Amino acid sequence: MAREHIDRWKIGDVEVVRIVEIFEATGVNPILFQDCGHERALRHPWLVPNYATAEGALKMNFQAFALRAGNRRIMVDTCIGNDKHRQAAIFHHLQSTFLDDLTYAGFPPESIDTVLCTHLHLDHVGWNTRLVHGKWMPTFPNARYLFNRKEWDFIHGLVGREGAEVDHLPDSLQPVYEAGLIDFVSTDHQVTPEVGLEPTPGHTPGHVSVRIESEGKRAVITGDIMHHPVQCAEPDLQTNFCNDHEQAIRTRRGFLRRYQDRGAYVIGSHFCDPTGGWIVSDGDAWRFEGEQQLDS
Ligand SMILES: [Zn+2]
Repeated sequence: MAREHIDRWKIGDVEVVRIVEIFEATGVNPILFQDCGHERALRHPWLVPNYATAEGALKMNFQAFALRAGNRRIMVDTCIGNDKHRQAAIFHHLQSTFLDDLTYAGFPPESIDTVLCTHLHLDHVGWNTRLVHGKWMPTFPNARYLFNRKEWDFIHGLVGREGAEVDHLPDSLQPVYEAGLIDFVSTDHQVTPEVGLEPTPGHTPGHVSVRIESEGKRAVITGDIMHHPVQCAEPDLQTNFCNDHEQAIRTRRGFLRRYQDRGAYVIGSHFCDPTGGWIVSDGDAWRFEGEQQLDS
């Protein structure tokens, strides 16, 4: 079981629980970035040991977040999912304990009333569905799945393009659509009094981050505007997965400025432990100071 990979935060009255599906993947430097080898990573010694090895190998998690806000139970992203046919070996026919871990953490699938996906790439939508008697069924049958049109149209527009990763559309999006569980909302939709979306386009056109505000505390879940804390120090690093690099860089820099120096407790969607922390201005860029709890 992966229960040591469950982490919890209190943002005022809102509880955030993290469930890791793939823990500390390495070998990701060349997969993630166009130009961030081990030496370049080691220019930022503060990454070691939490976010990179002593040799400069970057580490990343694949994880999701479950929120308890008032009487609402909200998923933020749904990871990779089991049994799915994928191009990348790390995701292909995965067998993880994600759903058991989620239930153990106090969020059985039937209790979830809302599913938010920061964007519609395959590692953020996988547990939208699960295989039941050979058929893909919505994992969260009592939830409304909140997407935005821009993102939906973008990902479906990739079908037929060479090299596009769209294997997940028929197994992770279509069944939810056919079950009538999707509501299309704006990219700045306020989900509950405490939880709202913030448009952060670039990685994908309809990408959103998730803001949590309660009792004077503020946190934000990044989504993929940053995949790794190294991008605080080098916000212009280009990933291999961003749709519009220029826009992604603008969005990332705006985000870093907006939340720097305790503007918000930042929870990194792919960050290893400590997954939450603070963006600290550092010369003409930033650092990420991981801190397990926002009040410590
Ligand atoms: Zn991702």
